Amino acid sequence: MNIRNNIAFFQKKLADTTCKLIAVSKTQPVEKIQEAFEAGQRIFGENKVQELTAKQPVLPPDIEWHMIGHLQTNKVKQIAAFVSLIHSVDSFKLLEEINRQGKKNNRSINCLLQVHIAEEETKFGFGEQEATELILSKEIALLEFVKVTGLMGMATFTTNTDQVRKEFKGLKELFNKISQLSLPVNVEMKELSMGMSQDYEIAVAEGSTLIRIGTAIFGGR
Ligand SMILES: *Cc1c(COP(=O)(O)O)cnc(C)c1O
Repeated sequence: MNIRNNIAFFQKKLADTTCKLIAVSKTQPVEKIQEAFEAGQRIFGENKVQELTAKQPVLPPDIEWHMIGHLQTNKVKQIAAFVSLIHSVDSFKLLEEINRQGKKNNRSINCLLQVHIAEEETKFGFGEQEATELILSKEIALLEFVKVTGLMGMATFTTNTDQVRKEFKGLKELFNKISQLSLPVNVEMKELSMGMSQDYEIAVAEGSTLIRIGTAIFGGR
């Protein structure tokens, strides 16, 4: 894999869009991340706290680190000082802990609510109704050190592109619906994180603002 060429490929693809590229660097060594950085990439995504905290201090400080994988409540404190966006918030309890750690670090932490859009049972996330109710709840408005900036979803892992499109469309519709509500000050619907190596073209066509690409940049894991 030529990382530089792959980054250039995605930069060109996204040039006429408002969608940004997240290079998903999980399992990749720091040398490869550095290579992508030198090709101009600044946003990187990791799915494990342990890997994220090992890589962050040894790589350039102007990297924006995104947490994209399931996050356990007891691990929030390890990333609270530097994480730019947490894509995978799937419970109110987690949001409360992010708020607590944001307060300790005197910074507001950007979060996306992960919404379950796939057919598979195994994927984490809120139901659509649940996500809407949480956003409109009195409790969320009290989390001063949390900023909810949008939604994240993962489509079913399938070659059936009609199904994938339907799921992304559904998430975009929810995003639009929530955007039109009267929202608390710490909620602003800006980002829609959807699309991976296999399905990013559909995701971008359906309104994604953040694609999370691993394999198509770094090769297999
Ligand atoms: C690994 C991962 C990706 C990237 O997957 P690729 O198929 O390698 O592009 C995107 N999002 C999440 C949540 C991931 O865990």
